[in-house]
Amino acid sequence: MQDFIYQNPVKILFGHDQIPALAQEVPQDKKVMIVYGGGSVIKHGILQRVKGSLKNTLVFEFGGVEPNPHYETLMKAVEIVKAEKIDFLLAVGGGSVIDGTKFIAAAALYENDPWEIITSYGSVVKQALPFGCVLTLAATGSEMNNTAVINRATTQDKLFFASPCVMPQFSVLEPEITYTLPERQTANGVVDAFVHILEQYITYPVNAKVQDRLAEGLLNTLKEEGPTALKNPQDYDARANIMWAATMALNGMLSAGVPTDWASHLIGQEITALYGIDHARTLAIVMPALWRYCKNEKSEKLAQYGARVWNIPESDTEKMADEAINATVDFFEQLGVKTRLSDYDLGDEAIAEVIRKLKEHGHIALGEHGKITAREAEALLKMAL
Ligand code: NAP
Ligand code: FE
Repeated sequence: MQDFIYQNPVKILFGHDQIPALAQEVPQDKKVMIVYGGGSVIKHGILQRVKGSLKNTLVFEFGGVEPNPHYETLMKAVEIVKAEKIDFLLAVGGGSVIDGTKFIAAAALYENDPWEIITSYGSVVKQALPFGCVLTLAATGSEMNNTAVINRATTQDKLFFASPCVMPQFSVLEPEITYTLPERQTANGVVDAFVHILEQYITYPVNAKVQDRLAEGLLNTLKEEGPTALKNPQDYDARANIMWAATMALNGMLSAGVPTDWASHLIGQEITALYGIDHARTLAIVMPALWRYCKNEKSEKLAQYGARVWNIPESDTEKMADEAINATVDFFEQLGVKTRLSDYDLGDEAIAEVIRKLKEHGHIALGEHGKITAREAEALLKMAL
């Protein structure tokens, strides 16, 4: 196991009817701005419940944060926060709204050009407004981590930043809120969380048994509960297990003490920025191709994963690795998530564009060994055609 420091201060309020607890969690002496997305929280009565629990608080609202939150929209929120001297934010939504709120929280207190928050990967962030979350979509883990992915739509740059200053103070996780998710978003959420776990697990062995078995437990949970939630969207236990698994998948615990990959996320982000394909769907395209391309380096962990998650019988390592990759592709397809660029009518031209953007962003030494250069990325994307 590698050395690590781990700290996660986010308070989680999990289970039935947790929204009323906002009355205690949101400071009453602050001016609060609720941040939300395209209206699902209005349609399904979540915003109403949130406002009902904040009756004694001065509340502003900012709606309209897009999936893959636009920098341009978030900057409008930053102006309102500054003008109204808002001093607490409450994200009510999925990963896009929470990520957007993290950016607003940091940008509101940043003196220079706020795009520097992104280009510095968050290193310029020295302070941020405090904020909490009401999660409506189990997927990203943003409700319990320090990372945000922001999309500058005008220039097609989708990039992440991270800072300890943008850890939520608390997150409300009510599994029942996810009953209303469209099938596509339920499936996306399961795939995104599944890939988060795999990017911290399918690298090379470092004898981290605790992390491996945590990862395998979460993967097995998502494998079982994903299809159940799609079949019966109101199955509380399936929704609860998916929600907690997705949060645990990316709250820093799995990556402590192990090598991590993240190439699929960084390549996938370029595909979303250029072609608008849902985040999780880009991962389902890139990761199997990346694994096939890097099979030699990853074969030991792929075989272990195959045995412990897909019950693949012991045989030679390479054969087991192949079967594990195939089982993963089948799982994504079974959830209705396609795994090829051609499924989205993307071909060689799209690959060239993705490579151009990876170079522009300096993302040319990816993966756990830093060996995925632009040339490797191009070759593996061709395997995903
Ligand atoms: P999302 O973009 O937040 O939401 C997707 C869609 O689901 C929206 O149209 C939203 O509608 C709808 N929705 C959300 N909750 C709903 C509910 N309970 N019922 C019905 N519809 C609902 O999806 P996401 O997958 O959570 O977030 C994706 C973003 O997170 C991407 O930008 C990705 O890059 C990023 N990400 C971040 C991290 C991280 O660590 N921070 C990790 C992975 C990915 P409305 O807009 O109308 O609400
Ligand atoms: Fe993700």
